[in-house]
Parts: sequence; structure tokens; C-alpha cells
Amino acid sequence: MEVVRPVIHMSGLSMEAKAKGQSITLVPTMGALHEGHLSLFREGRRLGDLLVASIFVNPRQFNDPKDYEKYTRDLPGDLKKCEAEKVAVVFTPSEDEIYPPDDKTAVPLPAVALPLEGTARPGHFQGVIEVVSRLFRIVRPDKALFGLKDYQQLRVIEEMVRGQGLNTQIIRHPIVRDKDGLALSSRNARLSPEGRRRALSLSRSIAEATRLFTRGERNLQKIGEAVGEILRADPAVTVDYVAVVDAETLGKPHPDRPVLVAVAAFVEGVRLIDNCVLGD
Ligand code: AMP
Repeated sequence: MEVVRPVIHMSGLSMEAKAKGQSITLVPTMGALHEGHLSLFREGRRLGDLLVASIFVNPRQFNDPKDYEKYTRDLPGDLKKCEAEKVAVVFTPSEDEIYPPDDKTAVPLPAVALPLEGTARPGHFQGVIEVVSRLFRIVRPDKALFGLKDYQQLRVIEEMVRGQGLNTQIIRHPIVRDKDGLALSSRNARLSPEGRRRALSLSRSIAEATRLFTRGERNLQKIGEAVGEILRADPAVTVDYVAVVDAETLGKPHPDRPVLVAVAAFVEGVRLIDNCVLGD
């Protein structure tokens, strides 16, 4: 496994791989790796010749500076996990090289970035597409994998790639959950055992949406209300939003098209999200 920090070294490795006719798969992460990330690596390894994982805690996507400071960082631990998963290259760029002071690259924000997380976390998706477009420019991946855990992020990146005519195929990866249903997240580590138990309200509310839909419920308002009820039943959970929207546009849902049910809530001051797509 190669651990690469200078951008020029990373782009060199990509050029060499391409010259040898190898395909490149990229899994961008912010580190604090857990089983969700590792599952993306395994799939990434299957889908291409050279698996590149990037680890970069992107300051521009944190709308709350405290959240950025508190974000778990464990590069030695992360590298061990990458090694065990046979990641070929771990790219750990510096902030100065990702965002050189003279770089004025402007990446337009797609419309799917505006609602939900876009409203709740102003500037977040601008930061996401800025880092992802730069990583793509350096690594030039044939494929890049993203988790459905961050559903809206995936849609934003899909639209960015389409809008900019980039040559990278975006692969959607299912949500990886703990045995009890909680969606894995680097943020879960900041919860106390009690907080973690309370956080299960999110996955339970999402499971209820799936259950109702599978049972034949097509009244989307009712589904949204059932989800909200579960979340609000626990005073330790502060709901940020419950959304039932069209899974493609993230706008008004249509009964005959896939629907996204997405929730965001705070537990012990930690912001957690979960979602499911109904009728896919
Ligand atoms: P992050 O390090 O949080 O930026 O996440 C890096 C990638 O891993 C993103 O594409 C996430 O959507 C994905 N990811 C994080 N947690 C999970 C999970 N529980 N299941 C599936 N993908 C995940």
C-alpha cells in the first residue's frame, strides 16, 4: 500500500496506472474509518484495477467550525484499516494543496443541493463539490463510490458530474448499519452509550417508513407523520427535519416515482442523518 501526500505524486501514480491500461476506482473519505467505509473499499476493489482511498477532512464542508474541530482524526488507525482491506493507494493531501490560495476554480451548485441538508447546513454542499471535483481532477478515477447514507450528497455529486461532463462513473453503495439498525457514521463515536441507544430512534423511524410502504401505505403524508412521531417521542432527540421528497429531484414527491424519506436529528449535540428510498 502506498500512502501519498503530494498532489503531484498522486497524479503521477494515476497517469502511470492509465498508461498501463489499469482502471482507477476512488473512494473519497474524511477518515475515522468504520465498517461503512470498508464496505465501500471492498466494492471498489472489485470494480477496478487500482483502488485509491482519499482521507481528507475537508474544512469547507463544515458549516459549523466546532464540528470541524471535533471531527475524529485517527490517521494511523485508518491506515491500518486500509492496509487490511488491500487499498492500493491512500491519498492524504494537505489543505494547502487542495485549496491553493490562487485557485479560483468555481464549481456551480446543482439544484438538488438546495433543500434539506442544503438549507440546514448552508455552504456544506458547496464545500463537498469543491473537494470532490478537485479530487477527481487529481486522481482521474474511472469510477468513484459514494454511500447512500449521504443520499443527497450522492445526488449532488451525480448532478455535478453530469453538469461538468466529467468522465467518472458514480457508483451508489447501500447504507451499512450496525446489528441493531443504526447507520454507521464517524459521528456515532461521539455519543455516550445512552446517546447511542437514543440514536436508534432515527433508524427505527426509517424502518417504520419502509414497513408502512411495504404494507401498501401510499399516503406519503401519513408516512412522514409516522416517522416524525417516532423521532419526537424521545425528548433526547431534537429533530432537524423529516422529509418525504422525490428521490431524483428532491422536490415534491410523485406517487408513481421513487420517494426519499430522509431524517436529520441531534442527539447529545451530535447531528445524525438517515434515510431510505421507497418504491425504487
Ligand atoms: P465520510 O468519511 O463520512 O465523508 O464518508 C465517506 C463515504 O463513506 C461517503 O460516500 C459516505 O456516504 C460513505 N459512508 C459513510 N457511512 C456509511 C454507511 N454507514 N453506509 C454506507 N456508506 C457510508
